[in-house]
Amino acid sequence: MVEGAVVEVTVVVEVVIEVMVVEVTVVAYRVDEKAAEQARWEEASKETIRNITKPCPRCRVPVEKNGGCMHMKCPQPQCGLEWCWSCGCEWNRACMGDHWFDV
Ligand SMILES: [Zn+2]
Ligand SMILES: [Zn+2]
Repeated sequence: MVEGAVVEVTVVVEVVIEVMVVEVTVVAYRVDEKAAEQARWEEASKETIRNITKPCPRCRVPVEKNGGCMHMKCPQPQCGLEWCWSCGCEWNRACMGDHWFDV
């Protein structure tokens, strides 16, 4: 009885691993296809995002710079962090006195 139970468990584990491998292959194929179609557009778009946005220091969402003001506010409602474009950290008194309106 004990030997039979051990064999059964081994078979179940093998089936689960096979299903996972198939799913990973399908996802990778879809990503490749989409990337090939839009490669050029995405590269241009990334360049623009790099120039005018920086990621929020807390949640990493890209935030667009607002004129010459270094005082940034994260647009994500669940984050809402006020942070410094220049320092890339939470907004503080040093930023307010030092480089609030630097360009
Ligand atoms: Zn944020
Ligand atoms: Zn600062």
